[in-house]
Amino acid sequence: MAEVPGHITGRCYCGGITLSSQEAPQSVAYCHCIDCRRITGAPVAAFAAFGENAVQASPAWPVSKSFTPGVSRWFCPDCGSPLAAAFDYLPGQLYVPLGLIDQAAKLPPELHAHEGCRLPWLQIADDILRLDGTSRTSLRVVADATE
Ligand SMILES: [Zn+2]
Ligand SMILES: [Zn+2]
Repeated sequence: MAEVPGHITGRCYCGGITLSSQEAPQSVAYCHCIDCRRITGAPVAAFAAFGENAVQASPAWPVSKSFTPGVSRWFCPDCGSPLAAAFDYLPGQLYVPLGLIDQAAKLPPELHAHEGCRLPWLQIADDILRLDGTSRTSLRVVADATE
């Protein structure tokens, strides 16, 4: 991923919260799971995974919320945009919705997670990795292969 931008910026829908990272994402993935559909309202979500301390929020990270054990989520307190999520089973990483990121055009997803939950009418023509589940191992394989 030589051309991946090293400085990442983004913001929520209303612009009240801006995000930035001096580090490129470790991996970028589609997620077809039902939780991601509900949290984004979209038929498929896409996320960039960063190191857990790589992303700064301005003016500050809001208080996190947890609706599911083992999952922490951050939302803009004004417009409600999902800003980030952290998962106990993916330790050390913070997942930021790709749609918030200004450089998204240069961050193509490297895999489909939870392909088994994909809506049957949603056809994305690509030849990237498709996994029925997700795991840190799989995400790390992609990240390691591209470093
Ligand atoms: Zn907002
Ligand atoms: Zn998901």
